[in-house]
Amino acid sequence: MKSEIIAVGTELLLGQVVNTNATFLSEEFASLGVEVYYHTVVGDNFQRLTDLLQEAEKRSDLIVLCGGLGPTEDDLTKQAVAEHLHRDLIIDEAGAERVQEFFTFSKRPMTENNMQQALTIEGGISIPNPTGLAIGTLITKADTSYLLLPGPPSELKPMFFQHVRPLIKELFPAAEQLVSKVLRFYGIGESQLVTDLKDLIDSQTNPTVAPYAKPNEVTLRLTAKVASEEQGEKLLFEMEQRIMAVVGEYFYGYGDDNSLEATTVKLLTERGKTITAAESLTAGLFQSMIGSVQGASKVLKGGFVTYSEEMKETLLGIPEVLIKEHGVVSEACAAAMAEQARKLTDTDYAVAFTGVAGPDSLEGHPPGTVWIGIAERGGKTTAEKFHFTRDRQYIRYSSAMKGLDLIRRAILKKK
Ligand code: ATP
Ligand code: MG
Repeated sequence: MKSEIIAVGTELLLGQVVNTNATFLSEEFASLGVEVYYHTVVGDNFQRLTDLLQEAEKRSDLIVLCGGLGPTEDDLTKQAVAEHLHRDLIIDEAGAERVQEFFTFSKRPMTENNMQQALTIEGGISIPNPTGLAIGTLITKADTSYLLLPGPPSELKPMFFQHVRPLIKELFPAAEQLVSKVLRFYGIGESQLVTDLKDLIDSQTNPTVAPYAKPNEVTLRLTAKVASEEQGEKLLFEMEQRIMAVVGEYFYGYGDDNSLEATTVKLLTERGKTITAAESLTAGLFQSMIGSVQGASKVLKGGFVTYSEEMKETLLGIPEVLIKEHGVVSEACAAAMAEQARKLTDTDYAVAFTGVAGPDSLEGHPPGTVWIGIAERGGKTTAEKFHFTRDRQYIRYSSAMKGLDLIRRAILKKK
């Protein structure tokens, strides 16, 4: 089954709106075993849309259009498809009732053009819009199907999940579908990961293994083309085992929406543990990352931003002599910061950051020199020295990420 996606809207051509519908639809259709061969964007122009439909009809079995189903004059997708197919536009009764109800309920006068949203093409299947008024349509003529969807993603997505997905599965059952899984790694660079897995990646066609580098982490997307979901899960599991045997020590979690901070917060929550931080060069970044995760209030009690020597002394009670003797960029200072922060907040874990964000050196240490201290209730306090690279922001971010990973590993070590 060959398909293509046509996004209709002048705002897309002007660069005012990003064509996220195409991304979304491509991914969803791939998972349904429908191959997408073309993405096109066309303005709100009847003639150009008609020309495009004529071309699309020659090469695709399913033409998916999004946008231009609304009530205004520039919304002309239904009109263009109807004329292309030599079919009439008719009112969908259920759709018309919803439009009426909407205006009665919101106590607003209904203008004539609003009924346009209840129009469908004769001989087609009307698709209800769970979050809006413009109904969708699926119509087949001469072996080509046309699927008309609304433009706003807030309408397109619910319509897709509630109505289009089941409809496509029923009408165009796929011989094969795509299932995928994302593995996330921290502490190994993309080039190292790819080198370590070279044989696996090169020799593998089903599932495919695709690496993707993000700041401070790498993900691997495993994608299998299969006849059933069960078969997919089996293939993905086997591949995952082979990958883990090589680089498992860097693996921290699954999924597109996951993150190191979410994984760490989840672990702390599961174990019923609390955390604090004493931050110098990161100035609250670590705590902000923890705080960005839903449910952080269960684990993050509070913490310290101690940028100056004075604040390290007054807020954390670090002895002046310790700083005089060792400096702030030191093992002794990082360990003392972690230890004090943990004691003062009575938490299970504390992490401390002290180092040089740059671009200038500090106490003779080059930018990127960072000490991270870890204190645990009932455990030994430790501090480790790291050398991060790139610019100031990257050094601060790398420090916070390393702190998350150190805490994560400390928790896991406890069993
Ligand atoms: P409406 O009833 O809101 O007019 P519509 O189906 O007519 O809906 P359009 O008028 O084409 O859709 O687009 C409405 C809005 O939806 C756009 O301004 C834009 O914000 C969003 N939108 C449209 N197409 C896309 C797309 N391809 N990707 C992401 N957003 C889109
Ligand atoms: Mg519109």
